[in-house]
Amino acid sequence: MVIKELVAKEKETIIAWRRQIHQHPELGFQEHKTGQLVGDLLEEFGYEVQRGIGGTGVVGILKPKGMEHKRAVALRADMDALTVTEENQVPYASKNPGVMHACGHDGHTAMLLGAAKVLSQLRDQLSAPIVVLFQPAEERLGGARAVLADGFFHQYSIGEIFGLHLWPQVPKGKVGLKVGPVMAGSIDFKLKVLGQQAHASEPHNSIDTIVAGAAIVGALQAISSRFINPLESVVVSVGTFHAGEISNVIPGEALLSGTARTASQNVYKQLPALLERVIESTARTYGARVELEIVEGYPVTASCAESVATVEQVTREALGEEGLFRLDSCRMASEDFSYYLQEVPGAYFFLGLGNERKLHQPTFDFDEELLAVGAEILARTALAASKRQDSHGPCRN
Ligand SMILES: [Zn+2]
Ligand SMILES: [Zn+2]
Repeated sequence: MVIKELVAKEKETIIAWRRQIHQHPELGFQEHKTGQLVGDLLEEFGYEVQRGIGGTGVVGILKPKGMEHKRAVALRADMDALTVTEENQVPYASKNPGVMHACGHDGHTAMLLGAAKVLSQLRDQLSAPIVVLFQPAEERLGGARAVLADGFFHQYSIGEIFGLHLWPQVPKGKVGLKVGPVMAGSIDFKLKVLGQQAHASEPHNSIDTIVAGAAIVGALQAISSRFINPLESVVVSVGTFHAGEISNVIPGEALLSGTARTASQNVYKQLPALLERVIESTARTYGARVELEIVEGYPVTASCAESVATVEQVTREALGEEGLFRLDSCRMASEDFSYYLQEVPGAYFFLGLGNERKLHQPTFDFDEELLAVGAEILARTALAASKRQDSHGPCRN
């Protein structure tokens, strides 16, 4: 009950932080004001603070007496907003034109600040140091890679890490979780097909980039149907195809781009070579050349059984059995939290918003009452995980 009461006292403050951050959204690696607010508050709560990790990230460290040498439990929130123009008519709407917290990272930051404050009041109940990480640039820019490049795990001796995302498609107020892959790995690709332009009546004098490009789109579908074990999931989609300007000319160039997603780390590793093989060999069949650029997105985010069990246990304590929502499958969006889980055990989970307002949309918003629920789950998770930081090893899924 103690944690619940401590969080309840902070509820309005957490909502006020969220609104302040929501009004002043900042894009990836530009989270200067947000980072300033976070750093100042953490200092006020009695944390040791490191600013500027991974560019604009902020780390807060709470070291209970006598526990300094134990491995730490890390909690992570992301702070970046998106290039979306807010359409919500609310008093706390974005004041930064064209930029909006449309993925709930304002909520993540506010919830983790709430948890951090409560944990600072429970210092003597902690059995390991707590590290709160406010990460920059989760959206596409890979802020997690920058944080790791700055030596985050070694510097703070992190033993386990937890992250939370507000999620519309999980029932409201429930904690959505599963062992193993929760977010997909993603790989983007762009290609230019180079052929020979000719009059539409003389195909034999052309190298037709539309026909070659169309063949590539078709052949890419064989990756999921022929080259990958049918028990593993993968999707390859071509999202753009631009070629030609007039009906009676065969164009000498076509531009295509697409993305591949998978819930399997094994498939993720195979994808770049498969994409290259299928695209280049198909282009060759038509006598075309291809310039291919493969951009790796984020790896598969996979939660560890032990860490998931901790979140399950604290959710039961906080919300009862009905607070749990077991996910039956991996979400096909991707997350740079995956990089952390490649280094140490941990769990990535969801707090359900149960609404129709989709992430990344100009009308995204959520019921702010949920922020206290998230703060409570995060604080309880850190406290419970701190009790066994020296007893568990690598992820055993
Ligand atoms: Zn997002
Ligand atoms: Zn997000």
